[in-house]
Amino acid sequence: METVVPLPAVSLVPVLGCAAAFPVRRIYCVGRNYADHAREMGMDPEREPPFFFGKPQDVVVPGGGPVHYPPATANLHHEVELVVALSKGGRDISVSQALEHVYGYAVGIDLTRRDLQAKAKDKGQPWDTAKGFDESAPIASITPASTCGHLARGAIWLTVNGVEKQRGDLVDMIWSVPEVLAHISGFVALAPGDLIYTGTPAGVGALVRGDRVRCGIEGLGELAITLV
Ligand code: MN
Repeated sequence: METVVPLPAVSLVPVLGCAAAFPVRRIYCVGRNYADHAREMGMDPEREPPFFFGKPQDVVVPGGGPVHYPPATANLHHEVELVVALSKGGRDISVSQALEHVYGYAVGIDLTRRDLQAKAKDKGQPWDTAKGFDESAPIASITPASTCGHLARGAIWLTVNGVEKQRGDLVDMIWSVPEVLAHISGFVALAPGDLIYTGTPAGVGALVRGDRVRCGIEGLGELAITLV
């Protein structure tokens, strides 16, 4: 059917070793999925389980590169995360069958306006302007699980201008990848094209214009962005 305004574009993420791309449907993110990060945010991971929030599908920055420093913040933070890309959807997915829904994995950054997030938390308001802004989800090329296997352990790290800021291990996720898929599919129907940012280890911090950020996950490629 004809549309009355131009059809919105679907974000496409390159796939390693493949001419075809991964089309993004929705982006889900896990909050406080590493105990050391929950503690640095002033929370008790024993008492506050991880939780979900979302970003629009058009905020991905495939392959990294230049990222515009967003307006309306003076405290933009980096959060390096393992991103899960789904090839199959469903509701009430069981932990034991969850990995059958995974197409592949990528390293990503959940860019966050920490000042707006703190204000939203204080006032009991939603996080959309803190999390879901333009270019807030850089992502490297996706590695198919058929190439890299399923990732349950391995280093995850991030440097700013060559200085290491974040280092953790996937094994320290409070909710593993299968548990994340099981939990979230109890709230919404997952579908092919969904991306899930699975949370960040400790060491988050502020970025300024000109900063060169590199990050990676053992067994996956690296991602580099420059704040412009
Ligand atoms: Mn995050």
